[in-house]
Amino acid sequence: MPVATWNKSTIADHVDEIASAARDLENATPGDIVRWAADRVGFDITVTCSFEDVVLAHVAAIAVPGIEIVMIDTQYLFAETQWLAEEFRKKFDVNLRVVHPLQVTPDNLWQRDTEACCNVRKVLPLNAVLAEKSGWVTGVRRIDGPTRAQTPVVSLDTARNVLKVNPLALYSDEEMDTYEFLHELPRNPLKDRGYPSIGCWPCTKPVAEGEDKRAGRWAGQAKTECGLHI
Ligand code: SF4
Repeated sequence: MPVATWNKSTIADHVDEIASAARDLENATPGDIVRWAADRVGFDITVTCSFEDVVLAHVAAIAVPGIEIVMIDTQYLFAETQWLAEEFRKKFDVNLRVVHPLQVTPDNLWQRDTEACCNVRKVLPLNAVLAEKSGWVTGVRRIDGPTRAQTPVVSLDTARNVLKVNPLALYSDEEMDTYEFLHELPRNPLKDRGYPSIGCWPCTKPVAEGEDKRAGRWAGQAKTECGLHI
């Protein structure tokens, strides 16, 4: 069991060490990156997983058995995504925590204001989780798009005052598929139906061959991010 040496009230004091680690860990394995983080904040860390796939959750659970894995259930997730989360939890006996929005009444806000909807259903629930944590492991990858191209493997999220850990930052789509295959991970059925990027059902469309993988997210809108990583 990792023992915490950093905590939420001291995490910002380690900004130089975190910057140095970002360089040192650039070519480390995803598992080693998660272990490095857990060696500093112990179990005061959470992994957020959208269950588009389970690579990140598997990497983290193998590196640090018992680590908390959070799924934010916006109430608009695909049935296939819900299925994958439960299938993964059963198969690997992981510590899965499902977090719900504070506002639980279906409000159809996504039809009028997707920024506000993402804020209520994703950002605020995440912030509530991270208010209690010193570390946050995410699945952000550099190839996700231009806004993520410079993602470091570890950084200090000053807004949320957490050690942000991006162990898959350098992973390609091929490496994700290979990892999934080698570890016999359950797969989101939507992946094979034209959905390379999967969010909530009202805001995710399949994409055509050769199209940008995130083109189906908030299609027709200027919006490209839900707000979790900006
Ligand atoms: S992705 Fe769409 S449905 Fe999901 S929280 Fe954002 S606006 Fe709402």
